[in-house]
Amino acid sequence: MNTEQHVVILGAGPAGLMAAWELNEAGFKVTVLEKESYAGGMCATQTFQGEKGEYRFDYGGHRFITKNPKLLTFVDRLMGDELLFAQRKSVIRYRGRIYQYPLAALDLLRNAPWSLLIGGGIDLAKQLFKAKPQQRSQVSFAQWIESRFGTTLYKHFFEGYTAKLWGIDPKNLSGDWASQRISLLDLKDVAKRLLPGKRSAVRTYARQYRYPKWGFGQLYTKLAQQLQQQGVELVFNANVTELVQGDGAIAAVGYRDGNGEHQIHCDQLISTMPLPDMCRMTDFDSGLSFRSLRFMNMPMATQDISDNTWQYLSDPEILGTRLQEPKRRSEFMAPAGETSVMVEIPCDKGDAIWTMDSAKLQRRVLQDLATLGVDPKFASAEHFSSYTEHAYPLMDMSYQAKREAAIRHLAQFENLIMTGRQGTFRYIFTDTAMEMGMMAAQSLIDGKDRRREIFDYRNESTVIEVQSVA
Ligand SMILES: Cc1cc2nc3c(=O)[nH]c(=O)nc-3n(C[C@H](O)[C@H](O)[C@H](O)COP(=O)(O)OP(=O)(O)OC[C@H]3O[C@@H](n4cnc5c(N)ncnc54)[C@H](O)[C@@H]3O)c2cc1C
Repeated sequence: MNTEQHVVILGAGPAGLMAAWELNEAGFKVTVLEKESYAGGMCATQTFQGEKGEYRFDYGGHRFITKNPKLLTFVDRLMGDELLFAQRKSVIRYRGRIYQYPLAALDLLRNAPWSLLIGGGIDLAKQLFKAKPQQRSQVSFAQWIESRFGTTLYKHFFEGYTAKLWGIDPKNLSGDWASQRISLLDLKDVAKRLLPGKRSAVRTYARQYRYPKWGFGQLYTKLAQQLQQQGVELVFNANVTELVQGDGAIAAVGYRDGNGEHQIHCDQLISTMPLPDMCRMTDFDSGLSFRSLRFMNMPMATQDISDNTWQYLSDPEILGTRLQEPKRRSEFMAPAGETSVMVEIPCDKGDAIWTMDSAKLQRRVLQDLATLGVDPKFASAEHFSSYTEHAYPLMDMSYQAKREAAIRHLAQFENLIMTGRQGTFRYIFTDTAMEMGMMAAQSLIDGKDRRREIFDYRNESTVIEVQSVA
């Protein structure tokens, strides 16, 4: 370990901040460059000053769960009594019906149309005699789901929602995404789970989670403040635009801020920036891309909209994929007696949704909400849009080969460690991003090359939520 070395970290999201934390503890000189004016990356929280008071909105509601007791203790200590417990309650809205999520037997019998129950039953009977479906990496999302859950459930719950979320036909989406996000194994698993007393037999969703009092971003604002107090240099509004190559390594990083162009020397470089951007800056076109999100955030002049954490909106005619009421995570997200909603709308940067006039989009979203029983009269002209450009790594059928080529390309720079969700082009949660940041730091501390390990970290095809210790 050579603590004389200057380590530059690109990005002050969960991964970058945790890398900085570990390296600072070990005595390294660390500089973090962040293009935004705040810490937290996709986990940040915005404050909106409305007529009735202050409202807070995440960039898509987050929650903290982890199966790593050390990480939980770290977060607990950092947040003290400002880390609250919250309960998850979610529903799926489709064709005028409301289903509990995860599915529950009585609820299904009460709510589902006969066509769904009969179709699902026939699919289940067929599946009892069917061979095991193919491996996820060789098949599309559509094939993976249909082979496990049958055509009826696929058409009802997955097809329209998935096409809306990703903007591509589920036949062109990799089965990898399904296997990392769907907590049940197949239709037999669904049936088993629906039986009374069998709930613990299969993997289930974590219902309880941690959430900071003032929004998810509070965790990272606090972490960044502590780092600064300990002497770590955090440079905000620093948009990294150039990587200066020299001798099989990155010699310096160029960035732009309000005062112009700058260059900073680095002995070691840890990057949580998007993998395709890092490739582009080193003259390689990876062909990888991200799906973006635009959020419509609105104060609502009523006590509550519903008791749900998430409402998944499956109808293709509705623009958003999820409706959220921030107050369900922490009551401090809206002024007393008031609430707010946030609708997640998938899009691609620069397309018609991304560029739509905000007032026009609000009108459209309110029309959608009216069809879901949310009275538009609770809303006013107060609203704002926020954006996450790199929300989801686009896992189309060709992404694995492109990702591998990108990894090989960047491996030529011996002082560069890619980490985090965007940096490794992985659909991972915050706790995994934090762990990845720590792994990157650990590599510099003990000198062990963990670059491949980080790219593959927690790549198991199990749902990460399963054994949450929170
Ligand atoms: C809608 C949505 C909901 C989610 N919900 C949950 C949840 O409930 N629970 C959970 O655990 N996880 C959730 N996640 C995932 C979570 O947001 C990520 O796992 C986490 O943010 C990854 O952290 P990171 O540090 O790897 O990346 P990021 O948070 O993306 O941080 C990367 C940082 O790099 C900076 N950067 C990028 N380019 C440059 C540049 N050119 N110059 C300088 N800086 C740059 C960015 O500004 C950013 O701050 C959700 C994600 C989304 C999109």
